[in-house]
Parts: sequence; C-alpha cells; structure tokens
Amino acid sequence: RATDPLLTVDSIDTHYGESHVLFDLSLTVGRGDIVALVGRNGAGKTTTLRSIMGLTPVTNGTIRKDGDELHRLEPHEIRKRGISWIPEERRVFGSLTVEENLRLAAHSGEDDQTERFDEIYAQFPRLDERRDQKAGTMSGGEQQMLAIARALLGPETDLLLLDEPSEGLAPQIVDDVADIIRELNERDVTVLLVEQNAEMALELADRAYVLETGEIVHESTADQLLADREMMEGYLGVK
Ligand code: ATP
Repeated sequence: RATDPLLTVDSIDTHYGESHVLFDLSLTVGRGDIVALVGRNGAGKTTTLRSIMGLTPVTNGTIRKDGDELHRLEPHEIRKRGISWIPEERRVFGSLTVEENLRLAAHSGEDDQTERFDEIYAQFPRLDERRDQKAGTMSGGEQQMLAIARALLGPETDLLLLDEPSEGLAPQIVDDVADIIRELNERDVTVLLVEQNAEMALELADRAYVLETGEIVHESTADQLLADREMMEGYLGVK
C-alpha cells in the first residue's frame, strides 16, 4: 500500500478555553489508508477530528492535506478541500425521508448535486429501497449509512473523518458498517476512524494510533496493536 501522506497533523495543541486538551499531537494518514485513532473515554479523539475540521482551532502546530495548510481555514473551506466529517451524533433528520435527507445535503453546497443521487443509491442499495422511509424509523446501521451518504454529497470527498460509527449498534450491524467503510475505502476514500470499539477499528485499519489524555502514546500497524494483548488491555481496557 502507498505510504504517500494525504493528511499530516504536526505537533498540534488544542484548548477549550483555558482547558488544554491535545498536547503536541502528530499523526499521518496515508493516501488510500484506513487509520484508526483509538483510546479511552475523554482521551481527545473527537477533539482531534474537530481540530482537523477547523471546528476547534488549534493553538499550535500545523495541519496539512496534500501539502496545503488547513489549520488557518474555516470549516467550510476545509470541506471544499475534500475532507468530510461524520460526527458521533450522525445528524440525520428523523422526521424526513431518506430522499429528503439526501436532498437537503445535496442543496447545501454551491451546486445542485441531485444528479449524483443515482451514484449514491447505487452505492447504498439499502437506502435506495428505503427512499420514502422516515430516517427516524430506520435501524442505527441504516441511519449511519444515510449519514455517510449525506457526507459524500457536496464537494468531492477523498478523506472521511468518522467519529464512532459503531456507537449504539448491535454487533451484526457493526459488521455491516465495517463493510461500508471497507467498500468506500476501495473506492479511494481515505479514512480516519475514531472508535471506542478498538477491535472493530483495528480489524479495519491499516495503521493505528492510541491516544491517552491528549497525547499519542502508541503508533503501529493495526495488526501489531491488535496482536499485543498487553497493550490492548493496558491502553484500551480490552481483555
Ligand atoms: P469520547 O470517546 O468519550 O467521545 P474523546 O476521546 O472523543 O471521548 P473528547 O470528546 O475529544 O474525547 O474530549 C477530550 C477532553 O476535552 C475531555 O476531557 C472533555 O471533557 C473535554 N472537552 C470536550 N469538549 C469540550 C468543550 N466543548 N469544552 C470543554 N472541554 C471539552
């Protein structure tokens, strides 16, 4: 696999007001890779994604995609550079149908993206079958699928930031979500995956970082981390 870096986060610090949350954090996401960022509750995983997306600006350090500096840009400008973020809460509109949810996402950018619906429906047949179903009545996995489809509308995306896609899902559904992430990756979408479910993330990922109280404490291939039971238990509480 290519190791050409797509995203480079270099020595960033991030604060919420007076509270210092990320410390000298560096990570690299290679083009075409799935990279997992794992760690316990409150370690700073979401804050890392928010920093990349420009939602919580960094106070130090640099973030680059394809060599372009991102860390001084507004979130919508970062989105235009091909990065899309799916927050933990998924943000689908429960009282709207699948089609209406997609329509809203399609019209939120500068160009009308309705013509891309066919592609999206071809990519997510389950959504195609449920075009007229209210999103709130779909399973958690289907809602996650819709959230991913929405994130792919708008400016072309080559880097997806996923925050806990497995959260609240039954194990069988987690496997379905993992399959979707794998398929997207096969279509040349690079993925930075934040997960509490370390095993799920590491089974999918090429490389992994472990975050502990705002610092990267381990970096290796995902397989190496997964095979190291001591580290899995020590850092992640996985027995
Ligand atoms: P989880 O897995 O529980 O979502 P996480 O690893 O994503 O955790 P973050 O949500 O990034 O962790 O939180 C990191 C730290 O920053 C925590 O101590 C949290 O309390 C704090 N924090 C998060 N958001 C804010 C905020 N808006 N204002 C102040 N502190 C915050």
